[in-house]
Amino acid sequence: MKQVDVNKAIRQHAELENFFTGGFAVKPQRSGKEVSGADQPASDKAAGLEQIADEVRQCRKCALGSSRTNAVPGEGSPDAQILFVGEGPGADEDAQGKPFVGRAGRLLDKIIAAMGLNRSDIYIANILKCRPPGNRDPRPDEIISCLPFLQRQIELINPDVIVALGAHAARTLLDTNKSIGQLRGQFHEYYAGIGRAPIKLMATYHTAYLLRNYSKDNRQKVWEDMKKVLAELGLPVPQRPKK
Ligand code: URA
Repeated sequence: MKQVDVNKAIRQHAELENFFTGGFAVKPQRSGKEVSGADQPASDKAAGLEQIADEVRQCRKCALGSSRTNAVPGEGSPDAQILFVGEGPGADEDAQGKPFVGRAGRLLDKIIAAMGLNRSDIYIANILKCRPPGNRDPRPDEIISCLPFLQRQIELINPDVIVALGAHAARTLLDTNKSIGQLRGQFHEYYAGIGRAPIKLMATYHTAYLLRNYSKDNRQKVWEDMKKVLAELGLPVPQRPKK
C-alpha cells in the first residue's frame, strides 16, 4: 500500500471523529506558556504517560506486538517544551525498551547537547512503539494501530514544538506525502485535536539518515532547523561546536 493510503485512512478517521463529536469546535490559538505544559500538573501528566506506556506494553493490535522484545513507549519530561518524534525502535531500542539509545540515538544526544539541553528536558517518542523486523519501513496498518498512543502522548505533554525526525514521522504527523527535503527547514502545524491549538512542528533529517549521509551540508541543515526551534522557544542558541 502506498503512503497516500495511510494519510487517507488517518484523515478519514479524524473526519469520522469530528462528525461524531459535532465538528463545531473552534481552534484556539496558542498564546505562550500559559497554554503549554501548565494545563495539568506534571504529576498528573506523568501518571497519564505511565498509563499509556502500560497500554503500549500490553498492546497486541498488530503483529509487531508479538515479534518485539520490548515495547518502546517513549521517555522524558512530562513538561517538555520539545517533543522529538522518530520512526520506530531499532535493535538497541527493542533490547532496552528505551527510544534512541543506539547509534542514531547517540547522534541525537549530541544534537540535544549542542542545543544546550539534556534528555531530561525533552520528551522522545516514536510513531511506532515496537520494532519492525529487520528495521523495515513501518507499514500503513501498523501506523494506524499505533498512532493513537502518540496522539495521546502529544495531548498530555502539550509541547510547544514537535521535532519530526525523518520522512515517516513528518509525513504521518502532517498528513502529507511531501519529501523530507521539502518539509524540513520551516515550521508546520500539527493539529492536536478538536478544540486544541495547533502545535508548531519542525521537520528535519532523521539522525540515522544523517549517519548514512554525514556531510557538512546535511549537518548544517539539521543545525539550522534546531536553531529555528530554539528561537521559536526564546531559548539561547549556543555557538555551534567546531567540527
Ligand atoms: N530510530 C527511531 O526512529 N527511533 C528510535 O527510537 C531509534 C532509532
